[in-house]
Amino acid sequence: MGRIRIENLSRTFGGVTAVDNIDLDIRDGDFLVLLGPSGCGKTTLLRMLAGLLEPTSGRILLDDEDITMAPARRRDVAMVFQNYALYPHLSVAKNLAFPLRVKKMRKADAAERVDTVAQQLDIAHLLGRKPKELSGGQRQRVAVGRAIVRNPKAFLMDEPLSNLDAKLRTATRRELTELHRRLGATFVYVTHDQVEAMTMATRIALLNNGALEQLGTPEDVYDRPASVFVAGFLGSPAMNLIDARVRTVGGAVVAATDGVHASLWPGQTEGRDIVLGIRPEHLRMADPGADLPVRLSVDVTSVENLGSEQVAYCEVGGSTICVRAPRPIALRPNRSAVLTADRAHLHLFDRATGRRLE
Ligand code: ATP
Repeated sequence: MGRIRIENLSRTFGGVTAVDNIDLDIRDGDFLVLLGPSGCGKTTLLRMLAGLLEPTSGRILLDDEDITMAPARRRDVAMVFQNYALYPHLSVAKNLAFPLRVKKMRKADAAERVDTVAQQLDIAHLLGRKPKELSGGQRQRVAVGRAIVRNPKAFLMDEPLSNLDAKLRTATRRELTELHRRLGATFVYVTHDQVEAMTMATRIALLNNGALEQLGTPEDVYDRPASVFVAGFLGSPAMNLIDARVRTVGGAVVAATDGVHASLWPGQTEGRDIVLGIRPEHLRMADPGADLPVRLSVDVTSVENLGSEQVAYCEVGGSTICVRAPRPIALRPNRSAVLTADRAHLHLFDRATGRRLE
């Protein structure tokens, strides 16, 4: 088992609150990705789970055992560091065997375990080399292998792919997903890369300023962002966020601002300042003469060709918005156009609190 419960966990450094009262239940077998911008507290949280940093307050439970103050070596978790932290003077075999030596496992058993893991990760041919004789990708595998040999309850990974080139990162992403499936263990994985989070996570915990903004499956957080922050963080290009106000026009409740008129579902508070969110892929060109429940009258400023798709930037009501579509897109720079979207694809947030409105 490898269930991790985090209760009211905080960590301050002088006047800086790096982790702010986080409650999080990481299920056994989760691939939980801690995602968020630089400085939001991801690494601090992970280091507290690893036992490398003491919390200022709160508790951490691993399978119901309180490990908040347990030293790192007593925790049944293994950490993979961003820079791999391999021992440079030791061979790959000795690096892999190191955690087993610490555990005082018999030499023959340790050698057998190292061989098995080296086969699994396809690094058996590298066992005699030193870390400096390895490529970045090979070092990364050795670091993962060193975590696997211990057979821990949970793997803690701090941006383990950030030192790899783009192509290798994509391949290693798939390998880690496969490894997680094979081991069935709990993974807690820190990244600021939303593609890594979307492709690998069973659940994403999105952090902002040390606090948990949203916890959910990749689909949850992408399709129903809980706040303007989450909406703006996930997606590339990001969700269009337009300041508007709830009004009743001709008996219908709409979100309105200059050039924008979007029918809303009933129950919205008249006069409320809102942020209207629409993802770039959900906007499409419409016939200006049509009766459209969602209507944006825009001026197209530029169109980028990305090969497989095109992205058009447009001005509406003082905001720049973006439309994404497979080629060819019919929008042309310096022309006006009418865009629409399905009402089901509208996201509504309270402008004062930034929180999603149902
Ligand atoms: P990144 O993606 O850049 O690694 P992060 O989300 O992992 O960022 P943390 O490294 O956890 O963020 O840092 C959170 C906050 O705590 C930041 O404001 C950081 O400056 C501060 N902080 C982290 N460690 C220390 C420390 N040892 N002393 C003082 N402040 C720290």
